[in-house]
Amino acid sequence: MKYVDEYRDAAAAHRYAEAIARLTTRPWCLMEICGGQTHAIVKYGIDQLLPEPITLIHGPGCPVCVTPTALIDQAITLAALPQVIFCSFGDMLRVPGSQRDLFSVKAAGGDVRIVYSPLDAVKLAQENPDREVIFFAIGFETTAPANAMAVYQAQQQGLKNFSLLVSQVLVPPAIAAILSAPENRVQGFLAAGHVCTVMGIQAYQSLAQQYQVPIVVTGFEPLDILQGIYLCIEQLETGRTEVVNQYSRVVRPEGNLVAQQLIETVFEVVPRQWRGIGEIPQSGLALRSTYAAFDAQKRFGLPRETDSPPERAPQLTSSNWAETEAKTCISGLVLQGVKKPSECPAFGTDCTPEHPLGATMVSSEGACAAYYRYRTPVLNIVKEGAINF
Ligand code: SF4
Repeated sequence: MKYVDEYRDAAAAHRYAEAIARLTTRPWCLMEICGGQTHAIVKYGIDQLLPEPITLIHGPGCPVCVTPTALIDQAITLAALPQVIFCSFGDMLRVPGSQRDLFSVKAAGGDVRIVYSPLDAVKLAQENPDREVIFFAIGFETTAPANAMAVYQAQQQGLKNFSLLVSQVLVPPAIAAILSAPENRVQGFLAAGHVCTVMGIQAYQSLAQQYQVPIVVTGFEPLDILQGIYLCIEQLETGRTEVVNQYSRVVRPEGNLVAQQLIETVFEVVPRQWRGIGEIPQSGLALRSTYAAFDAQKRFGLPRETDSPPERAPQLTSSNWAETEAKTCISGLVLQGVKKPSECPAFGTDCTPEHPLGATMVSSEGACAAYYRYRTPVLNIVKEGAINF
């Protein structure tokens, strides 16, 4: 645990916080884009260590949270088919579609399986030649290489019973959408280090230039995040808007060229719907026509982009989550950094991880789940002056 301990050193964290305070002369608003960073910030009380003028707001960097309702409905439709083995990461099973979730399909006898890699689903397809195996391919740039590899391997092996239901999204177009929004208040970004591990930092350089914001590629440990904040504030205070790589121990400026080539071979860039946000141009990936045989939507005759806001029922019922979400859940605003989870009237009362009303409370990377899990204990620790990394 040598390296983890070093990046969680409490004394060093306090020194960084003091250095940030010395640097800060006016209010600044920063967004961490990744749900993993949000969890680290809330878990370790990093926002509580910062000087008052700095506000951290949380971005849409949780793939489970931004998977559109229409695609979850398609997943549910496919999973209920008798010939299908439907494979997904565990978090997706509890995310509500417009009427129900994948767990309810499983409970009703659907063959829904939790896997840890798309290659596990390829193996299932090999082992079950008389069944259709579908993998729910969600995620950002970080999951795209493994999903592309699964399709590539399935093709190499001549598998005819494997396909992906694709919900791949891309981070830079989401940052551009946030910065273009009239209500935008983000002045600097902490970019997710793992995305840059794959894609490099090129896309961020053009964003920093176009929108005149500093972007700091940042890791996930407390000292990574504090250093990322320091580097961002340093730029803001001196009027610079550059891309700085805090996570250079992992991220190379050019990214992983082999992974990029694989993604490029298998996927093409398309517009995508983001749950709670809407369509963002050129913000997603879809299988190229040469890999159409592995596209579950095409194989089962489902439309590619059908997401529309969930219809609102005149009467709310606890069994219809999407209607409830549409009425009471502000997760769209949380995902855009406009509101914090604690500003939601349902937070911790009507909405808890046991009875979630929105995807941001369901997902282990969701901002609402982070606040629910860590916020009250952290506040207590800070009050007692005993914060400990
Ligand atoms: S606390 Fe629940 S209802 Fe409120 S925004 Fe988060 S997920 Fe939605």
